[in-house]
Amino acid sequence: MRTVIIGNGLAGTIAAKTLRELNPQVEVVVFAEENYPYYPRPNLIEYIAGKLPYERIFAFSEEWHVRQKIDIRLGTAVRKIHPRSREVELDGDRRESYDVLLVANGASSSIPPIKGVDKKGVFALRTLDDARAIIDYVQDHRRVVIIGGGLLGLEIARAVRLRGAEVEVVEFFDRLLPRQLDVQGASLLRSQIEGLGIRVRLGVTTEEILGQEDVSGIRLKGGTDISADMAIIAAGVRPNLGLSQDAGLATDRGLVVDDRLRTSHPQVFAAGDNIQHRGKVYGIIPASFDQARTVAYNMLGEEKKYEGTIPANTLKVVGLYVTSLGLANPEGQGYEEIRKFMKEEGIYKKVVLQDGALVGAIWMGTKKGINEIARAVTAKIKVNQWINTFLDDSFDFSVL
Ligand SMILES: Cc1cc2nc3c(=O)[nH]c(=O)nc-3n(C[C@H](O)[C@H](O)[C@H](O)COP(=O)(O)OP(=O)(O)OC[C@H]3O[C@@H](n4cnc5c(N)ncnc54)[C@H](O)[C@@H]3O)c2cc1C
Repeated sequence: MRTVIIGNGLAGTIAAKTLRELNPQVEVVVFAEENYPYYPRPNLIEYIAGKLPYERIFAFSEEWHVRQKIDIRLGTAVRKIHPRSREVELDGDRRESYDVLLVANGASSSIPPIKGVDKKGVFALRTLDDARAIIDYVQDHRRVVIIGGGLLGLEIARAVRLRGAEVEVVEFFDRLLPRQLDVQGASLLRSQIEGLGIRVRLGVTTEEILGQEDVSGIRLKGGTDISADMAIIAAGVRPNLGLSQDAGLATDRGLVVDDRLRTSHPQVFAAGDNIQHRGKVYGIIPASFDQARTVAYNMLGEEKKYEGTIPANTLKVVGLYVTSLGLANPEGQGYEEIRKFMKEEGIYKKVVLQDGALVGAIWMGTKKGINEIARAVTAKIKVNQWINTFLDDSFDFSVL
């Protein structure tokens, strides 16, 4: 059997690895548009920050692929999928056949239609090539404005700040990480960021990128101008859907898959940032990982269900551990929230309960207990019996 994978990001690579683990004989071919073997994208932040050398960015070498008998074709984009004849088309009308196909072509940076966005000095960060271009440019363009104060925008801000640049983050919402944090968590994060010498401007909309050919600043709605030599846009991602749409596969906000991660065509599966499962488009590592592991079983005809991933992420945002789990910031009635805020220590903990069961949490400044809490949120465990001691440092989380 010949399995073909489009994309060597996390989803494509983990699926290839799992296919090989499950079946030593199956042929595994990966087409990769980028010229590099797999690298975890968070490494790009550390690379820009100057904390990770180039050679250590990569998770699997080309030799690893040879040892695993995974036929990887770097720098080879798939241009078309022909589901009826079970072929993918490459440049130069070359075609390659498959028995089962995995579409794991991921997502791209979303670039809002701001006037002047095509000026020299405007960047976004998704790929290693983007990171290299940013490092190159920031060397002699020292005033950087980051458009978008989400997780990625804040991490980029920290990274270019560590390169000695002057950095200002502009964010549309009136607080940081509105999806992951509540008001108290967001203000703790803001003070941490400002402590690094990064300016933060909230509740503003970027209307135009100023400059003749090169960036000279940005104009905000209302007329305020901010001088800058470089703008980095971090305004979210959009799933890569063109290839799937051209092939006639059902798409919505993402490439639509069922619980077996099968698309509308029976021989075509999908996993990663490009997919929509039960109405959700995740765009995060844990989901891509779970999907990639599961899809490999289904590609080999072993039925395995993907039930979704609870968005659980411990991230070191600007040096502060930030975990946001499940319904961290619920809207509507019927939720109980319990908090503990220790400003001096930079610690903030909150749990969200529904009928006594744990349904969400925010954990900042500490990781202690977070794995147990993540499992408890997934299982919706009742915690009301421990309610008075639950947020204490001394609490024994193993009881969960
Ligand atoms: C800087 C950065 C930091 C991040 N940090 C975090 C984090 O801390 N936690 C977290 O959960 N998530 C994080 N993310 C998001 C995370 O990286 C993604 O969820 C993950 O990369 C998704 O993997 P994927 O394989 O689905 O897609 P992608 O990583 O987008 O990989 C898809 C691959 O397919 C290739 N491709 C596309 N079209 C074709 C084609 N036609 N032919 C061949 N190849 C093609 C692309 O070139 C790409 O290499 C971060 C993202 C970035 C950019």
